Amino acid sequence: MYRALYRVWRPQRFDEIVGQQMITQTLKNAIMTHQTSHAYLFTGPRGTGKTSAAKIFAKALNCRHLVDGEPCNECEICTAITKGQLNDVIEIDAASNNGVEEIRDIRDKAKYAPTEADYKVYIIDEVHMLSTGAFNALLKTLEEPPANVIFILATTEPHKIPLTIISRTQRFDFRRITAKDSYDRMVYILQQKEVTYDEKALRVIAAAAEGGMRDALSILDQVISFGDNTVTLDDALMVTGSVTKALIADYVEEVTSHETKPALETMRQILQEGKDANRFIEDLIGYTRDVLLYQQAPEMVASVAMGENDQRFEDFAKQIDAEVLYQMIKTLNDIQQQMRFTTHPDVYLEVLTVKLAQLDGQATTPVATATATVNPSDPTVQKLAQQVEQLQDVVKTLRAGGSAPKLAAPKPRASSGPAVKKVNVSQIYPVLGAATKDDLVKVRDVWTDLMNILSVTQRALMHVAKPVAASTEGVVVAFDYAFVYQKAIDDQTLIDALGNGLDRLMGQAPKIICVPKDQWPQIRKDYLETHQTGGTQASTNEAPKEPVVEEAKAMFGDLVEVKPD
Ligand SMILES: [Zn+2]
Repeated sequence: MYRALYRVWRPQRFDEIVGQQMITQTLKNAIMTHQTSHAYLFTGPRGTGKTSAAKIFAKALNCRHLVDGEPCNECEICTAITKGQLNDVIEIDAASNNGVEEIRDIRDKAKYAPTEADYKVYIIDEVHMLSTGAFNALLKTLEEPPANVIFILATTEPHKIPLTIISRTQRFDFRRITAKDSYDRMVYILQQKEVTYDEKALRVIAAAAEGGMRDALSILDQVISFGDNTVTLDDALMVTGSVTKALIADYVEEVTSHETKPALETMRQILQEGKDANRFIEDLIGYTRDVLLYQQAPEMVASVAMGENDQRFEDFAKQIDAEVLYQMIKTLNDIQQQMRFTTHPDVYLEVLTVKLAQLDGQATTPVATATATVNPSDPTVQKLAQQVEQLQDVVKTLRAGGSAPKLAAPKPRASSGPAVKKVNVSQIYPVLGAATKDDLVKVRDVWTDLMNILSVTQRALMHVAKPVAASTEGVVVAFDYAFVYQKAIDDQTLIDALGNGLDRLMGQAPKIICVPKDQWPQIRKDYLETHQTGGTQASTNEAPKEPVVEEAKAMFGDLVEVKPD
């Protein structure tokens, strides 16, 4: 049977944990000087070594042949812990055992001395998933810690843990792993496995994993399976979706050469790759900063993973005026602020694109002043001014709650696009019939955790989606972009993953029904009119009456804004 790389190459010694030297050294010192504490909290992003560190710590606490704070990994105790067979080291996944009973059970059993080892160690993974009752039970145990019992709590979301618990633990924050550390670890593993690789491919994977070693190894696994025991750049690009990185470079080159129209097209293409608006802006800021940095100190960027764009990036950095880059970053930051409060980020992106294409590096003053120095009768300037005006109107209309008027020049908007599959109301209506606010709140409570269970690519898709109505039988999920909705409904693996995830988190697996967000108000309105008022209004085109709106709020909660027509 094939075993995943991250399992096979799971670190067995503190020295093998990548990128967390400060933490591993502190833990080793604690063991060597016998100054361990009763409870530890390991926080940090996915795949940064928290649970590996916890298991190694449990071994080091109990190993009889300790060398410099490292477990021997050969004695009976060490091997039993590695296999998960030592009764005194208990691993609990709070995501599946979040009940008070389980923690009470710990309280009762923790009282008994360890049977084989010196220390009884409880490792509670995803500890933020415990219920309030379970946290209270855990707190009682931490307040009167039994002798020779050590708790290691691990979490990706420390803000969800009560302060009363945190204050009773020694906390270690695991950092994201640098691209360099992740690269080195992959090189080491591939050399051991005698798999050939392209260095650029590994840089692409390291950058895509965004600081998670486990994600890096999962991507590497997929790339190896594609490439028949070799790691090629093409496969790495395909698996990581780094195509978008090349598109970002296209976009930046287009706006800096004042080519508005191609830039708008590239922007739409990037959104179609599944990137959301905020992420797009962040990537642009990152790219622009790298170019600036490269102009000042090329050697500092040499280590940054640039993938296959090396040459292109260098050429661009050599010819672009730094002043333009500064203006770009300022404009990007401004837009990022404004976008926080909008439900239509894609419209801002269009305004942004027009603005960026206007930057000329002539002055550090705002764009408006800069353009005033240009001949206003210049046809290009007139055209751009007209486009900005149009786009500002769109933003205004959208803010006022209306629907966007069609634009003349940049025609297809990212959210419209090709014909969208019609929503199947026969699936939605039964859910709406039994929908309650409570059910929706329940789903929303576990939504972040549900997203964490998904794969990287699935999460990217779901980033623009939110639950908008729920009954015990079904959940209606609305997607900001029609093309993402389309992608989601064609992706049965994703739908299954959502169902299974909800089952795991809530103990029930409601049916997942997707809708494009712009159709949702109409669907809901139609339903209310045909079902709540005897269908009398269904044939008319009247705006919904106030009671209908009230009814909608009572039914679905006020989580969905009701827009006046
Ligand atoms: Zn040992």
